[in-house]
Amino acid sequence: MTQILILLVIAGFIIFFIRYKKPVKLGELPDGYRDLLSKHVAFYRDLDEEGKLLFEKKLKELLGYIRIHGVKTDVTGLDRLLVASSGVIPIFGFPEWKYYNLKDILLYPGAFNETDFSTEKDPDILGMVGNGTMQRMMILSKPALHHGFENTSGQGNTGIHEFVHLLDKEDGDVDGLPEALLEKQYTLPWLNLVAKEIGAIKEGHSDINVYGVKNKAEFFAVAAEYFFEQPDLFKVHHPELYEIMTRIFNQNPLKK
Ligand SMILES: [Zn+2]
Repeated sequence: MTQILILLVIAGFIIFFIRYKKPVKLGELPDGYRDLLSKHVAFYRDLDEEGKLLFEKKLKELLGYIRIHGVKTDVTGLDRLLVASSGVIPIFGFPEWKYYNLKDILLYPGAFNETDFSTEKDPDILGMVGNGTMQRMMILSKPALHHGFENTSGQGNTGIHEFVHLLDKEDGDVDGLPEALLEKQYTLPWLNLVAKEIGAIKEGHSDINVYGVKNKAEFFAVAAEYFFEQPDLFKVHHPELYEIMTRIFNQNPLKK
């Protein structure tokens, strides 16, 4: 009896360590992914060959640990690539990154409401990062996800917006201060710049999305969309913000 118990304990340990040590399973990229990425993801298109390979590697890693579920909609290969690109773009400057606060992404056929996530009653939300029972979950409107990657869509990108909230959340709070990414000495300059720019938006003197006045977290997310979607314009209009955001994201979108 004792021997059986000992064997069971040993077997338990072996199973635990095999599972624990199992490396991140690499996700599959859909057929024709290079063409799809070149056609739809400007960030990828602008990379050199080495950068493209790195981007693809990061896409596979991300798709290796998140699951994308279609709710009343199909999940196509392009959907998977756009979701994963939204996650890779903000962390492209970090040698290693895993979104520990994300496991599942629900793709909705359109906008939804905040109360019961219905797409029929007052749908006005395009994306959200879950809290409480929705922890480690993200919801994205499929049309909004696609719209963000269309060339004509300007400075907005819903997918990047939601992943930036997750980066912000890395220190525990979605508060517009990404403490895990920003060196201490830049905390005050960042908060001052954010306050100044929120004031400018309120007075109609800024071209940053007005949604940014809601709070510092939303400001950080909409400014990041602009930073990645139109870095040249963002740098000209907001040089100080641009400079500090290259530190936050550890990359300069204009020098890839
Ligand atoms: Zn937001």
